[in-house]
Amino acid sequence: MNVPCVRVPRTEGEETRKQLADADLLDHDHEISVVEGDLYIPIVDPDAVSSDLDIVEYEAPARETQTNPADILGFEPSYERLGDVVIIDEDDADRAREIADAIVESDLRADTVVNRASKIKGELRVRDWDVLVGDSTETVHREYGHEFHLDIAMVYFSPRLATERHRIVEQVQEGERVFDMFAGVGPFAVPAAARGAEVVACDLNESAIAYLRENAERNDVADRITAIHGDVREVADDYEGWADRLIMNLPHSADEFVETAVRLAADECVIHFYDIQHEDDPFGPGLEAIREAAEPAFDVTVLEEKIVRSYAPHEYNVCLDVRLTKRE
Ligand code: SAM
Repeated sequence: MNVPCVRVPRTEGEETRKQLADADLLDHDHEISVVEGDLYIPIVDPDAVSSDLDIVEYEAPARETQTNPADILGFEPSYERLGDVVIIDEDDADRAREIADAIVESDLRADTVVNRASKIKGELRVRDWDVLVGDSTETVHREYGHEFHLDIAMVYFSPRLATERHRIVEQVQEGERVFDMFAGVGPFAVPAAARGAEVVACDLNESAIAYLRENAERNDVADRITAIHGDVREVADDYEGWADRLIMNLPHSADEFVETAVRLAADECVIHFYDIQHEDDPFGPGLEAIREAAEPAFDVTVLEEKIVRSYAPHEYNVCLDVRLTKRE
């Protein structure tokens, strides 16, 4: 059966395999194949893989020692993993139960299986879950070499954004002042601090901030992260003109926070502005909102326009990277 694979020249194979393993994107149910100097590395979630990599469908051999949920069910269920929690997305309760039972019976190591029971809701961006197997929605998830303890019933976390977060974190320089305005449990803040940045991480969700503090300790970066529970519009009063880099990952309503971002910006500041927009003009509205708030005090330069993933039919989740430079 064809499965999604990353195709890379053999010489780059190990580096790419390691990068995918750190992001928890390897499909352990299928073997890596070598064909004419290229490696075909099976992956679990093509949407979460960096757009620089070549993704192809390939008939990778199944690992013989493994029993997959599909072997038991006779069809391929879709699911994603977050630590030892397996997440499924089924409207039909009987089908959800059948898949959950097959996951437990298979060789997937899963302590908990949950089904999505609501959309992501409210200011805290948390959703409801039906817990089908196990009794805890708390887990430890690994992403690019860092560990994040979290409870999916209490906080927002999407493993699909791993590659995108890595793209941002790789730009962070030692000694930079990074302000993560909507920090969650720290998947931007922790690796940014690990690169030597001084990080302020804010979130309205008290549980997220409690996990973030623990995750800072767990990853040995607590001395470089100040975690603040509160509304960033109020927290910003203490950090005006402070930030060399701002991370704004609240895509449905980021435009409501651009004035706060401008208040936080140092004379030279890079902003990573996440948005959800129609495919006809995915970057225009965000850029207009930023210009309206920042000009004429700052010049606004677009550094990158990145389509992160498709969000809904004709809608994209995008990131706009811009530089603000204070005018003389
Ligand atoms: N950056 C994290 C990540 O990638 O997992 C979390 C992103 S989540 C989409 C947005 C976060 O913004 C939520 O954790 C939510 O609680 C927080 N939030 C919403 N409104 C806020 C506000 N006014 N001030 C601070 N945080 C807020």
